[in-house]
Amino acid sequence: MSSSQSPETVASRSGAKPKTFTFKVVLLGESAVGKSSLVTRFARNQFDQYKESTIGAAFVTKEVPLDSNAIANLHIWDTAGQERYKSLAPMYYRNAAAAIVVYDITQAESFGKAKSWVQELKRQAGSAIVIALAGNKTDLSNRRTVSREEGSSYAESLGLLFFETSAQSGENVEELFSELAKKIPRSAEPARN
Ligand code: GDP
Repeated sequence: MSSSQSPETVASRSGAKPKTFTFKVVLLGESAVGKSSLVTRFARNQFDQYKESTIGAAFVTKEVPLDSNAIANLHIWDTAGQERYKSLAPMYYRNAAAAIVVYDITQAESFGKAKSWVQELKRQAGSAIVIALAGNKTDLSNRRTVSREEGSSYAESLGLLFFETSAQSGENVEELFSELAKKIPRSAEPARN
């Protein structure tokens, strides 16, 4: 039996066409923590510099299975550095069903910044938004300055999903997006970009 969870497998196993739920997901966090790299790893299973122009309204889509008869079609928005201009941020997270707030485990300052993004989302994005906290760059754990416990206990205190990831090695990247998708209430669709 195949362990593959591709949408095709889901469809053929249940014998019916799975229902697709479309959700908008945004990535937030300090510059250079690896937001673009996480999206590239997840959507294309690649790690590169992602230097293409993603200025303005850029998102990628990727389907993930939710269960035997449902698929999430994620519209994943990478802010492409524009999150530095505070006033533009609400444009990204408005109408988002979920947000991934990323920090770099080797940069304690980026963890502080992640906390302020979480606070802003809690205040401004509506209580229904599902938030995941991602401590990225675990392949550089010899340079770690934020412990796993710091990240997980902060996430737990606020009811956030928490993963430590590496866009470079791929560790936990699939899990991050797929667990997030499963936590989104299906009533959160459709994605309104
Ligand atoms: P963004 O500004 O948050 O979108 O960050 P980028 O995705 O552009 O990544 C910033 C830099 O960190 C780039 O040089 C990436 O190659 C590097 N980077 C991103 N993720 C990882 C990771 O998991 N491990 C390592 N070692 N480097 C990473």
